[in-house]
Amino acid sequence: MEKRDENISAMCRPAVGEAGRTGDWRTVRPVIDPTRCIPAVKRKSACFLCWLYCPEGVVKATIPVEIDLDYCKGCGICAEECPAKAIQMVREDQSDE
Ligand code: SF4
Ligand code: SF4
Repeated sequence: MEKRDENISAMCRPAVGEAGRTGDWRTVRPVIDPTRCIPAVKRKSACFLCWLYCPEGVVKATIPVEIDLDYCKGCGICAEECPAKAIQMVREDQSDE
């Protein structure tokens, strides 16, 4: 049987250490509004489209949903896909965090 290539993956994963970290070039970051996010509102595992569509694999399908901002590239796909409009892309220079 042909050996499986472990490096082939449909999704990239954040690497440990500095290798996969986002630098200071990100201009916008996603901020989730828990009063709109479906799993937080319904208190059950539901939706998670942000987790499904994030090309960086940095969204955790948990309640509440968490985004690893060390690796998030600020592409905004999660915000585009969110059916509840619970994710806002906020400019880094206007972010409090
Ligand atoms: S896509 Fe929107 S509503 Fe669904 S889990 Fe993500 S933030 Fe919440
Ligand atoms: S902005 Fe892009 S990289 Fe960051 S969590 Fe959303 S989909 Fe993932």
